[in-house]
Amino acid sequence: MRRTSISLLRGADTIGGSCIKITHGDASIVLDYGMPLMASGGAQLDSEAAKKPSISNGILLDITSDGKPPLACIISHAHPDHYGLVDYLPENIPVYTSEAAKVLMAVGNVFFPPALQVNRLDSCLSFKPGKAFTIGPFTITAYLMDHSAFGACSLLVEVAGKTIFYTGDFRGHGRKTTVNDYVLNAVKQPDILLMEGTTLDDGHPATFPSEQSVEQALVELIQATKAPIFVAGSGSNVDRIVSLYRAAKRTGRILVVDLYQMYLLEQLQVFSKGLPPHKDDHLRVFYPRSQCTTIVEKLGAEVLYRYQARQIKRDAIDYSSDKYIFRLSNSITKSLCKNFVEQNKAPELVYSMWQGYKEQQQSFSDIEALVGKPWIYIHTSGHAYTKALKELAEGLQAKKLIPIHTVKGEEFSQHFDNVYLMKNGEGLEL
Ligand SMILES: [Zn+2]
Repeated sequence: MRRTSISLLRGADTIGGSCIKITHGDASIVLDYGMPLMASGGAQLDSEAAKKPSISNGILLDITSDGKPPLACIISHAHPDHYGLVDYLPENIPVYTSEAAKVLMAVGNVFFPPALQVNRLDSCLSFKPGKAFTIGPFTITAYLMDHSAFGACSLLVEVAGKTIFYTGDFRGHGRKTTVNDYVLNAVKQPDILLMEGTTLDDGHPATFPSEQSVEQALVELIQATKAPIFVAGSGSNVDRIVSLYRAAKRTGRILVVDLYQMYLLEQLQVFSKGLPPHKDDHLRVFYPRSQCTTIVEKLGAEVLYRYQARQIKRDAIDYSSDKYIFRLSNSITKSLCKNFVEQNKAPELVYSMWQGYKEQQQSFSDIEALVGKPWIYIHTSGHAYTKALKELAEGLQAKKLIPIHTVKGEEFSQHFDNVYLMKNGEGLEL
């Protein structure tokens, strides 16, 4: 009889860079293959090693340690810590991801620096959430999850009567909370549940419990100030862009985004018609020169013409007015803030991402110094807080719950039943 086993190649004691191998007889598949964000146990990653990934420096993983390449690599969502190493896979190993994740990666290939691009994207295969597909002996069904990456999916793998459910990254407090109920209806008592536990560390405070509370805090801030507002946030966190769009609408402000953001929203509208922009709305587009050049080179000038009716030029901005909310890069934020400050209209600064990025980038303090006001923190995590993790674990009733994408695996048993701790590289026979 063929043996079925699972091993965590990485992710047992780190956030980011998770990689799971599921083996049945001679056949295997790999789930996620991203760039690690930290070294084992949360230690600082060697940034030089990350620039030149290899198996010997520990960035690449020996996914063919048994001499047999996996049949496929399946990517849960379009965050670099989940897909960032796929270009290093042998060409003959197909890569699968959701249609929406593929679109996000394609947009990244236009606008992101080379290290965040996926060269082999054209040959990547895509799946539809909820529609099972087979790879060798494995049947895989992806389920849409509520996460800060549009199109993020969990993955149910069925093989030889065994079921393995991998949550990928998820939360329960965004704009798609009902998808967790959908998962609970579709997945019953898997043999293995691999569940993320990002927020169990101290670096993900639940200051704002939900995306709705973020929108409300933005509305209240806008109503209480007579200043323009600059928001630092991830452009690919579409839930957050929707919060900004709605907060601007509720307060009668104009939301100004850059070409990257506009193009991204347009590309995602095939998946969700409710996404902005809408006809005759309050969304305007700023054309940064570097993005214009990139678009002309990679997409064609017609893309620039497409948004012309919404274009707001640098010298058409009223720098004595408080009618705007901007979400732009730090360099453009800085230059526009300078113009407002000169008109005695010092903007409010809103920081709407994971705190860690602010500490890593000097430009945030430069903007603070220029404006003379601190960044106001309005953010909710892209990852589930303990309550939502418990609800999922209790609802699924897995025979074994294996912590992944966490530095607090040893704390799982305080919150959840049937916890089974695995070490990186260790195998478990099912
Ligand atoms: Zn993620």
